Amino acid sequence: MKHVVADLALFGGRPAFLTPLHTNRPNRFDRARLFDRLDWALDNQWLSNGGPLVLEFEQRVAELAGVEHCVATCNATVALQLLMHGADLSGEVIMPSLTFSATAHAARWIGLEPVFCDIDPATGCIDPAAIADAVTPQTSAVIGVHLWGRTCAVDELEKVAADNGLPVFFDAAHGIGCSSAGRTVGGFGAAEVFSFHATKVVSAFEGGAVVTDDARLADRIRALHNFGKGIDHVSDAGGTNGKMSEAAAAMGLTSLDAFDSSVRHNRANYDAYREELDEVDGITFFNHETRERNNFQYVIIELDEAETGISRDLLLDVLKAENAIALTPIGSPACHQLEPYRSRRPVRLPHTEKLVAGVISLPSGSTVSREDIRRVCALIRFAVTHSTEVTSRRKDSQ
Ligand SMILES: *Cc1c(COP(=O)(O)O)cnc(C)c1O
Repeated sequence: MKHVVADLALFGGRPAFLTPLHTNRPNRFDRARLFDRLDWALDNQWLSNGGPLVLEFEQRVAELAGVEHCVATCNATVALQLLMHGADLSGEVIMPSLTFSATAHAARWIGLEPVFCDIDPATGCIDPAAIADAVTPQTSAVIGVHLWGRTCAVDELEKVAADNGLPVFFDAAHGIGCSSAGRTVGGFGAAEVFSFHATKVVSAFEGGAVVTDDARLADRIRALHNFGKGIDHVSDAGGTNGKMSEAAAAMGLTSLDAFDSSVRHNRANYDAYREELDEVDGITFFNHETRERNNFQYVIIELDEAETGISRDLLLDVLKAENAIALTPIGSPACHQLEPYRSRRPVRLPHTEKLVAGVISLPSGSTVSREDIRRVCALIRFAVTHSTEVTSRRKDSQ
């Protein structure tokens, strides 16, 4: 409990958390089940190259996403590269800047030029109305990102793209188990990509997948991710090694077993944060549509410094000193604010820049308890209530 500003750990007080409370720690899973699967894989003496655990994982991901085909990969960045290469993209690809650098880097790595569009501030996702202006004769596709689990305006996006003769793909790294107009993420556009990185709601340690209903595209990607084998001359580039291992699939399957309970826990965390912070002036939640399904893996708040009186970065420092490690979310800073994009193609994206400047990702996941949340929120409320003094003390100490 903090009584006066001097009690804050930032100014020498005792930290509120003895051990650090992290954002995006791995969710709980059944460890015995993981070891059973690993034992089984070792006994089976088949450790990679489309083994039985990978095939089972692909089938379960396809079922969850409601699609015909799933190709599991070593991570989502490579899955994005495989998809863009497999779909024969060239020249420019239009995408939001407000995404993890991997979306843009994957395009750059295979020689494409990302062209960044602004977001619709209501959703945080790419603004379909901004796309038409970004199209040039070099444009070969539009890539939407379901930011923090909030789905893109899928129908509008597909319409604008179709009007311009372009295919649409989605980076659905945050979107597993989410829905748009009642339809499950996975079946939108020509294909979507999931991430199963350790910090994501379903983890395979490292992993990714391309999901699609297009059998030909799936076959091409399956061949490309295994050195081009399986199809005669699938690409002039030959192919690459993008395969998922059996060990990763063992973890992915065990994490999928826990998916429903992880989502329930995340939902309860999200509701608890809202209950604790809803009344604080200047803090708004990045909301999830109540009619849609969501995995609630990210709890994102936006700070309006004019109202809270404390800057986003100072609040993060206050929390960090207390061992409550909140972070700037994925996408903050945005891609166009990062190299190489900042120098290559300077652009101003006012809605994106405003949103990324004020957002915080709060600790959640199935290892974060109600009591943890109560204490994090007490710290946030304390810092906001005493914002003037916290800010001036901080200035004095610098
Ligand atoms: C995590 C993430 C990726 C990359 O996933 P990896 O599996 O780590 O390669 C791509 N896009 C977005 C939006 C992400 O959050």
